[in-house]
Amino acid sequence: MVVNKLKQSLRTKLTISYLAVAALCVILISIFSNLYLERQFRSYVKSNQEKKNLEIVALITHQYEMQQGFNETSLQNIGISALDNGLIVQVEDAQGKPIWDALEFNHGRCLNMMENIHTNMMSRYPNWKGEYVTKEYPIMSNFQRVGKVFIGYYGPFYFTESDLEFINSLNIVFIGVGILALVSAIVLGNLIARGISRPIKNVISTAQGISRGDLDNKIVEQSTIREIDSLTGSINSMADILKQQEQLRKRLTADVAHELRTPLTTLQSHLEAMIDGIWEADSARLRSCHDEIIRISRLVGDLEKLARYEGENIILNKTEFDLVELIKSIAMNFEKKMLDKNISISISNEPVEIFADKDKISQVVINLFSNAIKYAKEGGNVALSVFVEEGKTIMKIKDTGIGIEKEHLQRIFERFYRVDSSRSRLTGGSGIGLTITKAIIEAHRGTIEVQSEVGEGTEFTVTLPLK
Ligand code: ADP
Repeated sequence: MVVNKLKQSLRTKLTISYLAVAALCVILISIFSNLYLERQFRSYVKSNQEKKNLEIVALITHQYEMQQGFNETSLQNIGISALDNGLIVQVEDAQGKPIWDALEFNHGRCLNMMENIHTNMMSRYPNWKGEYVTKEYPIMSNFQRVGKVFIGYYGPFYFTESDLEFINSLNIVFIGVGILALVSAIVLGNLIARGISRPIKNVISTAQGISRGDLDNKIVEQSTIREIDSLTGSINSMADILKQQEQLRKRLTADVAHELRTPLTTLQSHLEAMIDGIWEADSARLRSCHDEIIRISRLVGDLEKLARYEGENIILNKTEFDLVELIKSIAMNFEKKMLDKNISISISNEPVEIFADKDKISQVVINLFSNAIKYAKEGGNVALSVFVEEGKTIMKIKDTGIGIEKEHLQRIFERFYRVDSSRSRLTGGSGIGLTITKAIIEAHRGTIEVQSEVGEGTEFTVTLPLK
């Protein structure tokens, strides 16, 4: 079943992802830091409570010692300021007689203060269960117990107004930081996503251009992302290869048309002249027409071979055989031609085993051999040597022929390339033999090179790997 998912642009998708990650981080950080801070703050408040109590005890002791006894007015001052901090103080002397009691001094204010604390704490912790706690401390002077102080407060701990303010402002900071982080995630995410999606958009539009046949439009922009860089590289080289193949196809069509035009025009004009009665259809003229037809069929045959060998996927049927023996058997087929031109031949004797496609290597030897004889001078020599050097099989075919000029040397492997078309026409060459030869050798992962001196001769060197 095909599920039609809602398609989003890469940019939207990346921005949403960044935002989601940022939101998650902000939420987690806020929860954990809030919990941690609150716990720390609670334990701080608790330990501070004891400190505050001891400070009051110290103040009362000090008052006692300074004034040699309890002074109600001084105790009242201490008690009122303690009340402001949420503490209800009661002082008794050694006999247990109450000297000063905040509840008695101002009962209403005490209740009010407790009520306030309760409301504050409930506002922050709805489930807070506080209760009134009283702690008793002795008042010691000269190692004597001179009285007692009871300090009552809302326990186990409580937050004052300023404590609550502090916690609230912390929360506001957290919310502010969270919002800032989310906004930054949107902005940054958008920027990064744009950086990623722009080159991909470029690749898409170039690929679409390629599919429309626009092969010149390349992606020039380089990306800092390795994968995108190799993607643009692949698209560019794909366009290059397609362009090369397109050119090759066009050139092949043009070449074939060009090659066929000459014999066809000759044939047409000869036949027309005979039909119109300008020429008599004698055997000599008919033979000339026949020759042209043979030339055309040879060309078609060559083109067939070219299509077979020049295709990227030449299938090699490799076997092990002696290359020298193969050369010797091929040479026998050229005996007549060699005798006609009085050409001598020398072939190296040592057998050289190679692992290759025998039929295709035969084609190579035939092409090079026939060229050597074709372009050799009367009474010349063709030398074939085969040997192994640096783990490679080397085959050299050297003739004492007409040679090839430097300017033509590298082009002779091109399809339909002939150094001298008029002479080649006479020899029947269509300029395809060496193209096929090179294709076969390259399919064997070998190389072919040529050296030549005009008037001296030509030497082709074929190098093949052993396996
Ligand atoms: P062709 O069928 O015309 O011989 P090839 O592809 O075999 O085509 O050769 C291309 C051209 O290279 C030939 O037309 C010829 O001019 C030149 N050539 C090839 N081999 C030799 C050689 N041994 N000596 C001189 N010229 C050569």
